[in-house]
Amino acid sequence: MKDTTTLKAGNTVQPSQKQYFEIRDPATNEVIGSVPDMTGDDTLTAIGKAKEAFTEWSGSLVDERANILKKWYHLVIGNKAELAAMITRECGKPITESLSEVDYGASFIEWSAEQCRRTNGEIIPTNQQGRRLLSVLQPIGVVTAITPWNFPLAMITRKVSPALAAGCTVVLKPASATPLTALRLHELAREAGMPADVFQLITTTDSGTVGKILATDPRVRKITFTGSTGVGKQLMALAAGTVKKVSLELGGNAPYIIFADADLEEAAEGLIASKFRNSGQTCVCANRVLIEKNAVGRFIPLLLEKVRKLKVGNGSDPGVSIGPLIDRRGVQKVKELIADALDKGATLLLGGEQASADGNFFPATILSGVTPEMRCSQEEIFGPVIPILQFNDEQEAIHMANATPFGLAAYFHTSDLARTWRVSEALEYGIVGVNTGMISTAVAPFGGVKESGIGREGSQHSIAEFMERKYIAMAGL
Ligand code: NAP
Repeated sequence: MKDTTTLKAGNTVQPSQKQYFEIRDPATNEVIGSVPDMTGDDTLTAIGKAKEAFTEWSGSLVDERANILKKWYHLVIGNKAELAAMITRECGKPITESLSEVDYGASFIEWSAEQCRRTNGEIIPTNQQGRRLLSVLQPIGVVTAITPWNFPLAMITRKVSPALAAGCTVVLKPASATPLTALRLHELAREAGMPADVFQLITTTDSGTVGKILATDPRVRKITFTGSTGVGKQLMALAAGTVKKVSLELGGNAPYIIFADADLEEAAEGLIASKFRNSGQTCVCANRVLIEKNAVGRFIPLLLEKVRKLKVGNGSDPGVSIGPLIDRRGVQKVKELIADALDKGATLLLGGEQASADGNFFPATILSGVTPEMRCSQEEIFGPVIPILQFNDEQEAIHMANATPFGLAAYFHTSDLARTWRVSEALEYGIVGVNTGMISTAVAPFGGVKESGIGREGSQHSIAEFMERKYIAMAGL
């Protein structure tokens, strides 16, 4: 194996044209920075450089990769306050959430640094004399990654750190709304000693052209995408042309089920934690709240009392629980979904109205009497709205929960152990939260089924997503 202790940080791809695009704070609409608007040609160059760098990086010792990742982890944690402030200014979430995102995002780097030492192969008991059989895990090659704006740091580290740990080189395209955090994260990786060209960054507003190249270039062996189901489907179809390995972390429509035997106080807290994180703009946040009929009368007043206390405002201000939505389009969609529900007979219990001067801010909203036909039951709301539906029994709750093409996260609250098993097994989702609204952690496998995605991020399985298993048969022994 090659000695790679001389690997040095160097330059990555420079933009070929001097065009920049502006980044705005969704709370104030103020311009907070501008970044290079890179092109398809820049992307091709980046892939070429990543391909060249692959030989050396994939041949490096695991200890060396682990050490660089560990340094990166410590630099991210060491710059937590600065990164968190940047996340809040780019995507609007309250500063306390941004600080948690830095910890959460950094934990994937640390985890990958530790796990890459454990990408063991296997010796298979032979079934023929004179033969020995084994399998080894090898890095797949150049990986391209596309990430969304709702977790500007964690959605990057969750896929990029296991890829780098595996020995892959990476070309990343972050969301155009939140490239500043990505650039700073990239800078810290370089400071940690990430060699030139191993980790490339393309900031662009031309996501169509760049995305197509990332999904079709034959030098790329895997594309990993986090974002909407619509774009994920397009990328999967494009990747089919060169039979690339594909990982997709897509949209959800999470049911949040509350059985009458649950601790309703705990259920209300869990629901609020799940629903209002990032103002309801997360893929796993409660989208439909299903409450057993005979608990509705007790649950709603409890919920109303707690939600009324949530403060809406600029995420940089202390005490704010709900920041702005990402942009006007996000606000418009929320308004349309509420109008549709009210038209079809839902009742507004709280919020629902935006004052004209509110910009991207939208108040916490609760709707009761929601039915499965309403748009807010069928589409990702991506806003601070709780639609309440009712069910009669466990079978109906499971049926309602599963009646969607999505299958990312589902939640339920109960005090019945047998029901805990039954319902966990019956829910057609990649992730199930029982008596909790918070499920994300680097140590567990995160990902969806059905139209919510393919593959898992985090856990002991994360690095294998970026490796191929090679079988070697040795004869004449
Ligand atoms: P999006 O519109 O699909 O964008 C995601 C990324 O794809 C961005 O970098 C975007 O670039 C890029 N993109 C857009 N159109 C593209 C195209 N035609 N080809 C290639 N790339 C393209 O999603 P979003 O609005 O940013 O994020 C919200 C969605 O992500 C929600 O559906 C949410 O549920 C999902 N999500 C899923 C997970 C998960 O783990 N399952 C986690 C977080 C979010 P631009 O920024 O330039 O548009």
